[in-house]
Amino acid sequence: MNVGIGMTSQRTRMRMLERLKEQGIKDAMVLAAMNALPRHPFVEEALHSRAYEDTPLPIGQGQTISSPYTVARSCELACQGRILERVLEIGGGCGYQAAVLSKLAKEVVSIERIAKLVGRARLTLRGLRINNVLMKNADGSHGFKEAAPFDAIIVAAAMPYIPEELKHQLKPGGRLVAPVGAGESQHLVVVDASPEGGYSERILEAVRFVPLLEGVS
Ligand code: SAH
Repeated sequence: MNVGIGMTSQRTRMRMLERLKEQGIKDAMVLAAMNALPRHPFVEEALHSRAYEDTPLPIGQGQTISSPYTVARSCELACQGRILERVLEIGGGCGYQAAVLSKLAKEVVSIERIAKLVGRARLTLRGLRINNVLMKNADGSHGFKEAAPFDAIIVAAAMPYIPEELKHQLKPGGRLVAPVGAGESQHLVVVDASPEGGYSERILEAVRFVPLLEGVS
């Protein structure tokens, strides 16, 4: 008998979905993507039973998998109810958010500075037969010019400010979502690239992310 099955079953995932709706997530495509995708393969086996709780969990190397709400909120803001062509994620970690994005975009590029996490994320994605995510081991602070422009850019680590060169990697009409600030004082910031050129910026709710660090490791 598999004693773990109840903890990771479709019903547990459905409860996570109900909670996300209660918390205000409305985008049907984001909810469907998170319903279709198991979350426990992205954390260590000892944490499988906690994978659907609304909490960040350790993924090794001092990093965490973001809470389901944080992932849903960023994806909802970034996608604006459309299916996207190409998305960039900065701070790929265990690959969970990239996997969610793989259902919301034709192509996902995810940059993670810690090689060990990249290796594990690639294996997890392959195990789930997700083939439209490119996991890249690099410092994503400056984005990824070679693959630009993107319909959306999601940053999963707190930046002190949003660099201009990152905004320039958005398509006209595209959107960037990033936590900006340091320590306890961080806010989610949304930058829209207007179709006519130029950028507009909105500061949303307070958030708590790990800091963006320079260099690879
Ligand atoms: N998106 C992940 C959350 C990862 S946490 C999820 O689905 O759960 C943030 C990640 O950002 C960490 O793994 C950290 O190593 C990474 N990170 C920090 N600075 C970075 C940088 N400059 N470039 C790329 N990744 C970075």
